[in-house]
Amino acid sequence: MEITLATPMQYVPRVGPVMAGRLKKLGIRTVEDLLFYIPFRYDDFSLISPVGRVHAGETVTVSGTITAFRSAFTKSGKKLQQAQLSDETGVLDVVWFNQPFLSRTLPIGTQARLAGKIDWFGHKLVMSSPAYEITILEGSHTSVHGSMRSFQTNQTEASLHTGRLVPIYPETQGVSSKWLRGRIAYCIEHCIQQVIEYIPDSILRENKLVGIREAIEHIHYPLSTEEAYAAHQRLSFEEFFFLHVRAWEGRRHWQLSHKAYQCDTNQSDISEFILSLPFTLTGDQQTASKEILSDLTHPHPMNRLLEGDVGSGKTVVAAIAMYAVYKNKMQSILMAPTQILAEQHFATISRFLKPFNISVSLVTGNGIMNAKSGIMEKKLSLRDSKFIIHNSDILIGTHALLSTKINLSRLGLVVIDEQQRFGVLQRGELIDKMKQGKTPHILTMTATPIPRTIARTLFGNLDLSVLATIPDNRQKVKTWIVPNEKRKHAYEWITKQIAQTGGQAFIICPLIDESETIATVKAVTSEYKRLGSIFPRFRLGLLHGRMKASDKTAALDAFRAGKTHILVATPVVEVGIDIPNATIMLIEAADRFGLSQLHQLRGRVGRGALQSYCLLFTEENQQQTLARLKAMEATHSGPLLADIDLALRGPGELFGTRQHGIPELKIARWTQSALISQSQKAVRTLTVADPALSGFPLLMEKLKESIMQGTTRD
Ligand code: ADP
Ligand code: MG
Repeated sequence: MEITLATPMQYVPRVGPVMAGRLKKLGIRTVEDLLFYIPFRYDDFSLISPVGRVHAGETVTVSGTITAFRSAFTKSGKKLQQAQLSDETGVLDVVWFNQPFLSRTLPIGTQARLAGKIDWFGHKLVMSSPAYEITILEGSHTSVHGSMRSFQTNQTEASLHTGRLVPIYPETQGVSSKWLRGRIAYCIEHCIQQVIEYIPDSILRENKLVGIREAIEHIHYPLSTEEAYAAHQRLSFEEFFFLHVRAWEGRRHWQLSHKAYQCDTNQSDISEFILSLPFTLTGDQQTASKEILSDLTHPHPMNRLLEGDVGSGKTVVAAIAMYAVYKNKMQSILMAPTQILAEQHFATISRFLKPFNISVSLVTGNGIMNAKSGIMEKKLSLRDSKFIIHNSDILIGTHALLSTKINLSRLGLVVIDEQQRFGVLQRGELIDKMKQGKTPHILTMTATPIPRTIARTLFGNLDLSVLATIPDNRQKVKTWIVPNEKRKHAYEWITKQIAQTGGQAFIICPLIDESETIATVKAVTSEYKRLGSIFPRFRLGLLHGRMKASDKTAALDAFRAGKTHILVATPVVEVGIDIPNATIMLIEAADRFGLSQLHQLRGRVGRGALQSYCLLFTEENQQQTLARLKAMEATHSGPLLADIDLALRGPGELFGTRQHGIPELKIARWTQSALISQSQKAVRTLTVADPALSGFPLLMEKLKESIMQGTTRD
């Protein structure tokens, strides 16, 4: 039977159902999967030496005839195979441990190539546990491995396991790298011509990338490390390239298949609102607002991400957009991930909009409140809530907004704060709120400081606005690492500080598990009790995610009003809260957090006029950990800290498991930012010339396939 790329592994010669079952564990189902199964390193057996010239310490390949072979036992009773390999220059001793079958594979007289490390063993040089390859055995045996690239090697026989850079693959029980090499060689020989080149020639040339077939051959059987590297680059590029093309296609699809209400964003109206604000906008806020206002005038809905460090002032930008939509007699929704954030947005936005007689309502699990009445109504009849919701210009709330089951016929804009906390499904529900064949404009906001290159890949289907600067009136939060022996001293300093300045403090307890479990709640509760005796002069509040919503609000209100001095809290609660009088952020077990998380927590203070401080408690004294925390002392830029984290800990740690939707890469790494940029640029060039990519039918087909497999996002 002819094998193709789509052939299941089971039907590849010398595989069968048992091996195919094992390969599934490695994610290899078809011939194509196998060809794209990438080695994670290479053994360098490319140094080929005459038997008589080997040196201790070298890793070499030797070839000759097996002139002796015997099985023996080590002192501890383990099986030992001793052999000698000879050529015209000498004789070399070889040992293997516990491989009794070798007596049959390598009988005396066999011509073989051995590759391994040479060491002194007593006063003799010995090669131990080498890889082996039989070079002549009844003529035909090696031809299975074919003439793999032998046209390029100077050797007469092809070699897979010795005499070259030998690929080492992730293995599993019963599937060795050696076995994989054989099957990969077979599949390359029979199927390489079927592998499709998706990347246009011009892009390959411009980016100095090797073709796909060459890349596959070279990744498995490189003649040099340069070749292996170039192959890896090409395959990594391809992975980014597909992500970028997909993002492009997602964006285009969104624009073609959704219609929006086209707003008139009258400049003088909006200027009036901006002038009424208690501050002047930063340059970035102005630019972002302009970008958003321009989107609102388009016939297709905006789909924009507003990324800005904590405290960069995203809320007011959203308020400007909502104001513009209100001026067009349309409604806006602002959805926050938690009740407290929703309440805070409600307070801020109604304050900003107060002079304009706009109806702003809050919808949470606690009920509905309209800014005019200022009373939270708990149990409204459906009719009454319908009435309030229909007559509000701006609705601010939590998930409760989704469960109102009320369609908003005038919904023009949906703003989603801290978007990474919402699933795609919920976004869909929000979009469906407007059942008029139109789609609301969508603005998502995030403070997650994802390095720019990664953000553009992950969210490439969104337009991006960035607030890179923090309003001037904010000072840098002085940051110190506090080792355990200085704990008592730090508590005394906090006591004095609060007494003298009237500021307030957060004390953040470590998250014990990834999500806020009972264990974390227990820890924060007992820490709250313990701290009570350390700060007898002050009133302490407690805040964690498992408290009733009303208790959370009460705890935060008390803190905001200055009724409590210190708020003891878990880190998952309320990333966006804004309490200008809070000046101290104490973080326990700071070493357990990523830098980006620490930076977000630190952003809770330094929001008012007073100098603020961040104290990073740690009991770790490992050099590496301290160096990482030191970056917090030196750097106050979110994106920079994200880059440092990315370099030190890799993207997994950076994003944490709480944030969904970050795909794992198969071959490439998120740290390859130069390659990401190259791919991005390439896709831009390609799509400028041919937006529908109609000149690349194969690529489009591949794209559809990957979308069918259900990993799209929009
Ligand atoms: P975030 O981007 O973290 O959501 P906020 O929108 O909560 O930030 O803004 C943080 C604080 O900065 C708020 O108190 C807000 O009123 C204030 N603020 C926003 N823009 C400016 C500005 N241009 N100048 C001064 N203060 C500002
Ligand atoms: Mg915010």
